[in-house]
Amino acid sequence: MGKKAHVLVVPYPAQGHVTPLLKLSHRIADYGVKVTFVNTEFVHAKIMATMPDHNNEEEEEEEQNQVGLVSIPDGLGPNDDRRDALKLLEKKIRCVIADPTLGWILEVAKEMGIEQAAMWPAGTRGLPLFPHIPKLIESGVMDMSGAILRNELINVSKDIRAFSTSELDWNCIDDPIIQKICFECALTIKQTLEHSNWFLCNTIYELDLPVCRLLPNILPVGPLLASDHPRHSSGSFSLQDSTCLRWLNEQPAGSVVYVAFGSTTVFSQHQFHELALGLELAGWPFLWIVRPGLTNRSFAEYPDGFAEKVAGRGKIVEWAPQEKLGQSAIACFMTHCGWNSTMEGVSNGVPFLCWPYFGDQFHNRSSICDVWKVGLRLEHDENKIVSRHEIKKKIENLLSDDDIKANSLKLKKIARNSIEKGGSSCKNFERFVQHLKQ
Ligand code: UDP
Repeated sequence: MGKKAHVLVVPYPAQGHVTPLLKLSHRIADYGVKVTFVNTEFVHAKIMATMPDHNNEEEEEEEQNQVGLVSIPDGLGPNDDRRDALKLLEKKIRCVIADPTLGWILEVAKEMGIEQAAMWPAGTRGLPLFPHIPKLIESGVMDMSGAILRNELINVSKDIRAFSTSELDWNCIDDPIIQKICFECALTIKQTLEHSNWFLCNTIYELDLPVCRLLPNILPVGPLLASDHPRHSSGSFSLQDSTCLRWLNEQPAGSVVYVAFGSTTVFSQHQFHELALGLELAGWPFLWIVRPGLTNRSFAEYPDGFAEKVAGRGKIVEWAPQEKLGQSAIACFMTHCGWNSTMEGVSNGVPFLCWPYFGDQFHNRSSICDVWKVGLRLEHDENKIVSRHEIKKKIENLLSDDDIKANSLKLKKIARNSIEKGGSSCKNFERFVQHLKQ
């Protein structure tokens, strides 16, 4: 038997980037390609701590199809070994697959004569904006550092809804330092998008037609779903509290509002209170993920008497096995519209209540509400707060909307079909893996 092709996969060190790249890695390994997954030490330690138990015996063949998890130093302090990443590249690597925000890794691979592929883990609707950046600067809509000089609607194609300047990935958070970092990332993504032969995306051709036609080098291979292999790491940075699965199983079908805002959203204490009061007022059972850091205080403070008022119908955990929440009890998903959450909700046929926070999440909301019509927007009031009354009203509107429910089920079918044998994403993925094996 010939030697296995060996690929190196390098994610950006954040939860929403590591998880989809790890899922992709497990799929590649399932096809008999050796995969080494490179995390920073900080992320590696977190993932190892949440890994399933290693003690049970497994088939030898399965052992061979595991993804090798390795780490490199994260900071470049004086005593750090700067050669570790390069040493990994010196092994006989067939291809380096990296997050497009890490364009430098792809450049190093190119210089070393190693094939490169990018894997984009975020939403694709905003991708056409990146090649458009020079035009935006030239026409005076923004300056060289991405700061908006003129608010207007941006048209990139007649088939894609215009973008508002307030929705640009690097312009939708009120912090100049983060804006600058995001704009630098946008420039790197633009470069990678324009120069990659392979630009894999966690999306579905049928759901993203205009973007796929406009950017023909992108290769939709989604939805990337969690492996059900008991020993595969989910890539979760935090321990997943499974008590909510049992709790969900006890709830009536289509009754639970699932409330989760991913790994980075931060609410003011005032907004957090209003959300709690909204869930109380709405009267539906809810499962709410309140991870440490969800509010801008050291710990989340609930309104007085909240626990007593929602006792029996409200379940709160710090981190759930979100991908396993496919239960029929879930009626809708109140989400920040992170792309992984979006793909997971679509794959489970769940209607969305959209509350974006940052980056691509505003474009993802637009896909959910305007293009696919599987969700509703939660709107801020004049004080930039989503009020308890808005929350109650939108939950009621969403749960009584039969068109949205029907669309969600249609989308679920499209998503599931695309990764079945012969489906569009499956074919794309197999084309890529066969290429790796040549
Ligand atoms: N997630 C999870 N448990 C939770 C909440 C979220 O496992 O309680 C996972 C979720 O399934 C998704 C990821 O965390 O895969 C969040 O990624 P997303 O792109 O939605 O948002 P981000 O964290 O990047 O903002």
